[in-house]
Amino acid sequence: MAEPARLRVCALYPDLMNIYADRGNLLMLERRCRWRGIGFELTAAGLGAPVDPGAHDLFYLGGGQDRDQRLCALDLVETKRDALHAAAARGALVLGVCGGYQLLGHRYALGDEEIPGIGLVDLETARSDGPRLIGNVAIEVQLDGGERRVLAGFENHAGRTHLGAGEAPLGRVLRGHGNTGSSGAEGVRRDGVIGTYLHGPLLPKNAWFADWLIRRATGAGELEPLDDRLEDAAHAEARRAAGA
Ligand code: GLN
Repeated sequence: MAEPARLRVCALYPDLMNIYADRGNLLMLERRCRWRGIGFELTAAGLGAPVDPGAHDLFYLGGGQDRDQRLCALDLVETKRDALHAAAARGALVLGVCGGYQLLGHRYALGDEEIPGIGLVDLETARSDGPRLIGNVAIEVQLDGGERRVLAGFENHAGRTHLGAGEAPLGRVLRGHGNTGSSGAEGVRRDGVIGTYLHGPLLPKNAWFADWLIRRATGAGELEPLDDRLEDAAHAEARRAAGA
C-alpha cells in the first residue's frame, strides 16, 4: 500500500531568519496540508544543528537583517551546506526568501565584507549604496511550462542580486523592483531550488504557490480544493497594492 502523503519541512534558523514574520509561510503549508489530511512534520535547525538531507522534503530559509544573516551564513556554510547540496540533488525543495534567497548564491558583498553563501545556485548579491528596493511587487511566473500566474508580495532589500548566465529567474517583474531594480528578473529557480525577494509573507498571499510546493514536495497528484475565499481576497489585495 502507498504511504499516506506527508510533507516534511525543515525550517532553517526560524528564530533568526524571520523578518516580516516569514514563518507565516510555514503556517500556511501546515494548514493547507492538514486541511486535506496530508501529514505535516516541522523540524527546526538552528545555529550549530546538522541537517539530514534525506529526512525532509522542503528546506525553508526566510529573510533576515544583515546582522542575523551574517551569523546564519557562517553556520550554514559550516554545518549545513553539504547536506543542502545533497538534499537538492535528490530532488528536495529548497525555498529561500530575501536574505535566505541571497544565501543560496555564492556571496553577499557588503562593501569590503563578504558574507558567504552556499552556492546552490549561480548568483551573487551586492549591497548597493543606492536606495533600498522597497515596495509592493508582482511577478509573472510560469512553472514547468504551465499556466502563467502571478505572485504578489512585498520586497525590502539593499542587496542587488545578479544571476549567472545559466540561471533562470523565478519570474518576470510586472510591478516593483525584483533582483536588481532594472533587470526585470525576480528570484531564481533551478529545478527544486527557489529563491525570491517576496515577503508578505509569500505563501499566505499566494495560496496557489503554496499548493504547487506541496504537490511538488510530496509527489501528491491533484490536491483536494479548499475554500479559498479569504486566500483569494488576500491575493487580489496584494496584486491591487502592487498595481498589477
Ligand atoms: N539583509 C538583506 C538586504 O537588505 C535582506 C533583507 C531581507 O531579508 N529583507 O538585502
